Amino acid sequence: MILVTGGTGFIGSHTVVELFEEGMDVLIADNLSNSYADVIDRIEKITGKRPMFEEIDLAKSEKADLLFEKYPNIKAIIHFAASKAVGESVEKPLLYYMNNLNSLMNVLENMKRHSINNIVFSSSCTVYGEPDELPVHEQSPIKIANSPYGNTKQISEEILKDISKISPDMNIISLRYFNPIGAHQSSLIGELPIGIPNNLVPYITQTGYGIREELTVFGDDYNTPDGSAVRDYIDVVDLSRAHIVAIHRLLNNENKKNYEVFNLGTGTGSSVFEVINAFKKASGLKIKYKISGRREGDIEKVWADTSFANKELGWKAETSLEQSLKTAWDWENYYRKNLENK
Ligand code: UDP
Repeated sequence: MILVTGGTGFIGSHTVVELFEEGMDVLIADNLSNSYADVIDRIEKITGKRPMFEEIDLAKSEKADLLFEKYPNIKAIIHFAASKAVGESVEKPLLYYMNNLNSLMNVLENMKRHSINNIVFSSSCTVYGEPDELPVHEQSPIKIANSPYGNTKQISEEILKDISKISPDMNIISLRYFNPIGAHQSSLIGELPIGIPNNLVPYITQTGYGIREELTVFGDDYNTPDGSAVRDYIDVVDLSRAHIVAIHRLLNNENKKNYEVFNLGTGTGSSVFEVINAFKKASGLKIKYKISGRREGDIEKVWADTSFANKELGWKAETSLEQSLKTAWDWENYYRKNLENK
């Protein structure tokens, strides 16, 4: 059985679908702080299988302990559960440190107690900060974090690395995500930000649907070809599939070291204006936008060197930006028409 913490969230839910496609048993643990329980029904609709589910806050050690006692057959863990809003983390640093670090440590403590040796951790390209050289590869310098959120990812990676040094039996993979976008082909699951979206793509799809009046482009004076900031947008299904490869790698002892780190991106950077144009091609809609100043804490450009992940994991992102925007748009429509008011 694979324990997926944060399994009702955006990347978590897509990964559970892929785990089921692989014939694996799945237990989701999620506190539903940023997701909804009916995601489980929709996972079942897609796959014909229903994950086991525990609504639980893993940052509370006694709750985490109970979970692991109740399910003695956990073979590996994919640890997504974390708070992820950069801006909110600046406002509420303690919440972020407590939530993200305590939950990881409670999971690790229970892994030790129950001799569970395999964990895949959700990390982020935020650990690279504003890189000196592009694309960034796994050995690129880790920069001082721009936000408490980013810092929790850096500290988490350090905790995992330290544990790997003294626990030869522990097998750990940290996956550094670039910018996950898109949705499942079925349109039954996708990204569902609560309130006004912080991220570019849900803001664009909501503007396309008429929920937001116009997009604000944060800065057109960057040192990039069109002046807007550049990111590496990776499709959520491609990203989820990398987790399956990572889990097989751990369960089959194919890992080369007991702590490994991989970049998960496409290897291509796209500017905000390029994303707006690709959305136009995907949806036929011209998004209204205005230009404002830069958003505090934003970096200018980052994209991944994916050669290590491509070679070692035999994994590659396959979905184009336009295809991802199409599935994101289809999901926005499906959600608004079928789920929002239910
Ligand atoms: N962005 C924007 N308008 C928005 C949201 C985001 O122009 O309403 C830009 C943001 O400045 C960045 C890119 O889109 O250059 C991606 O931002 P997002 O928040 O999606 O991801 P981040 O890279 O910050 O994690």
